[in-house]
Amino acid sequence: MLNRRILHAQVRRDGLRWPFPPHMAERLTGCRVLHLRRRSKYILIDLDSDETLIIHLGMSGRMLVAPAPGAPLPLVGRDGVGGTLVGNDDAGGGHPGPEKHDHVIFDMEGGARITFNDARRFGAMDIAPSADVFAHRLLANLGPEPLGNHFDEAYLTSRLQGRNLPIKSALLDQRIVAGLGNIYVSEVLHRASISPKRKAGRIASARVATLVPAIRDVLNEAIASGGSSLRDHRQTNGELGNFQHNFRVYGRQGQSCLTASCNGKIVRIVQSGRSSFYCPKCQR
Ligand SMILES: [Zn+2]
Repeated sequence: MLNRRILHAQVRRDGLRWPFPPHMAERLTGCRVLHLRRRSKYILIDLDSDETLIIHLGMSGRMLVAPAPGAPLPLVGRDGVGGTLVGNDDAGGGHPGPEKHDHVIFDMEGGARITFNDARRFGAMDIAPSADVFAHRLLANLGPEPLGNHFDEAYLTSRLQGRNLPIKSALLDQRIVAGLGNIYVSEVLHRASISPKRKAGRIASARVATLVPAIRDVLNEAIASGGSSLRDHRQTNGELGNFQHNFRVYGRQGQSCLTASCNGKIVRIVQSGRSSFYCPKCQR
């Protein structure tokens, strides 16, 4: 998409989680993509109209990238198991016709097609002025990026100090750190040997110090593995992510703890309506 023009934007319904902004297709059609950025779980696409398209994948949303028909790129079946080849049909500029949950389609200069597919429709798109996109209601209150320079031990210590909520809830709070989800918080707390039930304000600073590298390690490894495909997540080429095979606690209730020298068993509890998985023996 970078430096290419959106030749045609198709918007095939009124909205997803929320209504789409007015005239979305017209506002996107003809624009050149200047930058592709990310903030927390939001994809930001800066356009030469001085507007930015904000996209959230929600629960099941996918951005699928189909190369220009005939382009010499590896073609992968949409179901990830090598079924229909993307870009091998002659409908719609050489691309196959839209599928049921293809809600927004961008036909790019150069022939590639970008499709936003979302079966459960918890995804979101909005358009904001690029100059103050970070003032948008979805972005304004986000904490620092966990992989960025503003997230460190001193910052995290200051945000946890005096807080009476469980550390699990604190790490899920996007105002404290942006972009950590339920699965990864369970994995992080296991690596840091901290119980998800421990009160955030009652973790010794030496142990808070272990949280920061644990968060970065889990996220970097998950990204390198293409993410975690439990139900819906796909990479842009339609392939599954692989990090689910590296979970140490998530979904492993009743199984042995993987910490060396620990003979505990993983348990599942529910906190604020979400599952937490941990080892009561080595996570304190
Ligand atoms: Zn253990």
